[in-house]
Amino acid sequence: MDMQDIIIRKRDGGVLSPAEIRFFVDGYVREEIPDYQASALLMAIYFQGLDRGETMELTEAMRRSGDTVDLSSVPGIKVDKHSTGGVGDKTTLIVGPIAAACGVPVAKMSGRGLGFTGGTVDKLESIPGLRTTLEPEAFMKQVRETGIALIGQSGHITPADKKLYALRDVTGTVENMSLIASSIMSKKLAAGSDAIVLDVKCGRGAFMKSQEDARRLAQIMVDIGADAGRRTIAIITDMSQPLGDAVGNALEVQEAIHVLRNEGPEDITELSVEIAGAMIYLGGRVRTYEEGAYVARQALVSGAGLEKLRALITAQGGDPLVCDDPSILTVSPSECDVIAQETGYIRQIDAEQIGIASQHSGAGRATKEDSIDPGAGILLHVKVGDHVSKGDVLASVFSSGRKKADAAAEQARKAYIIDKKKPEKPTLIKEIVGK
Ligand code: URA
Repeated sequence: MDMQDIIIRKRDGGVLSPAEIRFFVDGYVREEIPDYQASALLMAIYFQGLDRGETMELTEAMRRSGDTVDLSSVPGIKVDKHSTGGVGDKTTLIVGPIAAACGVPVAKMSGRGLGFTGGTVDKLESIPGLRTTLEPEAFMKQVRETGIALIGQSGHITPADKKLYALRDVTGTVENMSLIASSIMSKKLAAGSDAIVLDVKCGRGAFMKSQEDARRLAQIMVDIGADAGRRTIAIITDMSQPLGDAVGNALEVQEAIHVLRNEGPEDITELSVEIAGAMIYLGGRVRTYEEGAYVARQALVSGAGLEKLRALITAQGGDPLVCDDPSILTVSPSECDVIAQETGYIRQIDAEQIGIASQHSGAGRATKEDSIDPGAGILLHVKVGDHVSKGDVLASVFSSGRKKADAAAEQARKAYIIDKKKPEKPTLIKEIVGK
């Protein structure tokens, strides 16, 4: 097979055969295909797209490129969840325990964050003593005994995606639906769960700016799941403003606990119930999607979800007292407030700007090698649609030093637009694909 022919065919709008796609992925991982040819093919795909069969073949070739997790020793329908990435998104810490409390085994491997804030693993590590690495047998045993384990990605999962994503990142070829969908789903399929709930974000703080694009991406991922025999539901949600009030690692763990105590912000509570409900539905614990949300809310209100989080923290060596008193988590000492410059209604809190500000505070990483400050971040005191008076505190930034806190607050200030006219509150849950 000749790589040049493959590039030319895709460039001219042709369809690649399964063998050609496998030849490309395997050859690139083995370093037999150089970056310049891989880049050319990615750019051809960027412009010409992939059809359903090609997208599935690319996903499968990437899934098979490394280790895959075998969860067959855990009884029951295992359900995974994934978010396409949002600012203030701590839902995994909430929906995992709720779904597990309702009898759905959750065996989840999460990533570290790059960019705005940490990933789920970074967030968990802000709990004193908590381990996020477990040997595969211990991981499986914990899921069998506790119903849930949340750990960092171990082993050698989808090396083809890692290598291709890094290349896409520097060749302007990230923003293609089929490439994004196959990248995400290859990792989800390799992680071994039987069913998957996707939270596809749309809005200023997300990859997909419009609902139409989010719907197209969601449908491609739902189709990949169906073709791979894993039931998949995608929930399209708003990311035009941060989710919840907390952005940053320890701050987000505190907020997750508040939600599980039924004392959290409305938006993140609503979304968590929806996602956990979808997991409970796909996990076969209820007959309808709607019943799943009902059961999830019961588990939140009764405190069953919080007790499952406590069990998870205990099993992984963390201090379970955090569930009773989230304030024992250390928040960075330097505080700088973002002040309203005028009176009116909050029309916009640009999630992307808040994300950048949180990274400036120390809560995120610019490169993989950076360390993060678990106590750094931003607390929002108002959301879109709220009325504020000149001089009110819109948000508080926490950082390890004054200079960093000031710089982050300066950045956060750019996120806000205040208007005389009361705006519509954005609808958080926009639509469900694959229900
Ligand atoms: N997230 C991924 O994992 N892959 C992409 O291509 C885009 C976002």
